[in-house]
Amino acid sequence: MTLDLPANPNAAAVAADRAHVWHHLTQHKPFETRDPRVFVKGQGLRVWDAEGRQFLDGVSGGVWTVNVGYGRARIAQAVAHALTEMNFFAQTTGSVPGAQFAEKLISRMPGMSRVYYGNSGTEVNEKAWKMIRQIAVKRHGGRKSKILFRERDYHGASITALSACGQGQRVRDYGPFTPGFVEVPHCLEYRAQWGEGDHAGSYGERAADAIEEVILREGPDTIGALCLEPITAGGGVITPPMGYWERVQQICAKYDILLHLDEVVCGLGRTGTWFGYQHYGLKPDFVTMAKGVASGYAAVACLVTTEEVFDTFKDAPEDEMSHFRDISTYAGCTAGPAAALENMAIIEEENLLENTRNMGDRLMDNLRALQENHAAIGDVRGKGLFCGAELVADRSTRAPLAEAQVQRVLAECQARGVLIGSTARAMQGLNNTLCLAPSLCVSADEIDEITS
Ligand code: PLP
Repeated sequence: MTLDLPANPNAAAVAADRAHVWHHLTQHKPFETRDPRVFVKGQGLRVWDAEGRQFLDGVSGGVWTVNVGYGRARIAQAVAHALTEMNFFAQTTGSVPGAQFAEKLISRMPGMSRVYYGNSGTEVNEKAWKMIRQIAVKRHGGRKSKILFRERDYHGASITALSACGQGQRVRDYGPFTPGFVEVPHCLEYRAQWGEGDHAGSYGERAADAIEEVILREGPDTIGALCLEPITAGGGVITPPMGYWERVQQICAKYDILLHLDEVVCGLGRTGTWFGYQHYGLKPDFVTMAKGVASGYAAVACLVTTEEVFDTFKDAPEDEMSHFRDISTYAGCTAGPAAALENMAIIEEENLLENTRNMGDRLMDNLRALQENHAAIGDVRGKGLFCGAELVADRSTRAPLAEAQVQRVLAECQARGVLIGSTARAMQGLNNTLCLAPSLCVSADEIDEITS
């Protein structure tokens, strides 16, 4: 289907974009000879660009964000209502949408109790780390201030978030970084770092033990928290191997280390449960979320903590410096929680968690079938509608497919009207993985269209 647009109605906008907008993660030299892409319309999983070309979006807005799909008028209406009633007051006070969404969110996160609002994944991750540092001061006299992060994980674009970034390409050129962040090894079994003879238990247990080795090397009394993605996203769609999370949770308990789970991608249904960690029975101290919280209809992100964490700040001796000294202006805008509340209502009313599990199984089945027929697909992995297909030049050596070849695959898909993503740039030849993460309302036909 081609959208019936009048003759080039967006030409001026495209020209203005080309002249004045600096796109994220983009080399602009090619736009000296051709126009950048400008999207003008979205409905369901379909998007149309300024030329009227239609695409099936297999990555939910390019960065696994639009969980409930495009064109949801009821979210726009909820946002309009919230803004008309009371658009903003500093988050030092409360708002009706802010309170309602917090209550709803916590009802789906047993064990957690407090919602701290922010605007982006980067920002709420940094807020978590600020809390962790302050807890180190309050509980441990300033010791236990180091934060562990994992090779291949990503937590945001600021200098401090890049200090906790396990992807070399993203950090190159941007140092010096914030001290106090220490890397632990990744757990991608397809790129195994330990052979079978090197360990007694499962690969997952071995990978978790590698975290313990770093803790012992650094000194357990210096480590405040471990920050991990439940399933690594941009680092290669890395689903944790069996036994990994159980051992990680034990290690955190053993050394009194707080567990911070970055659910910026997995959160709000992407993997078929509300949160990725809920597949593994984890008990985090901090959960951060952003993208799917409002499916891209408003800028909102949340840091969720336990009551125990909250109490550390509340029950401190009477001291005016004992509260969490942090604020973000736009966390006081009611558009975010109003959109988030409606987004959750859609997920529930349309049974999108169940659809995610069912369609995710179909997507994985299709990918496995493709793998049987295509030697370039070395590994497929995923959970729910969060899937990856790792491309290799040679299955026996597992040498990654060259980035130019991966870009060709993406371009071919686009030429056939399907948008998918890849980790090729971020991982620079370490794992070149195609990313498939359609909206949670995807149909069986759309899944088949993507994989065909
Ligand atoms: N954490 C993870 C796992 C991410 O994938 C991202 C962004 O892709 C972020 C954090 C940063 O989120 P934002 O771009 O909203 O700052």
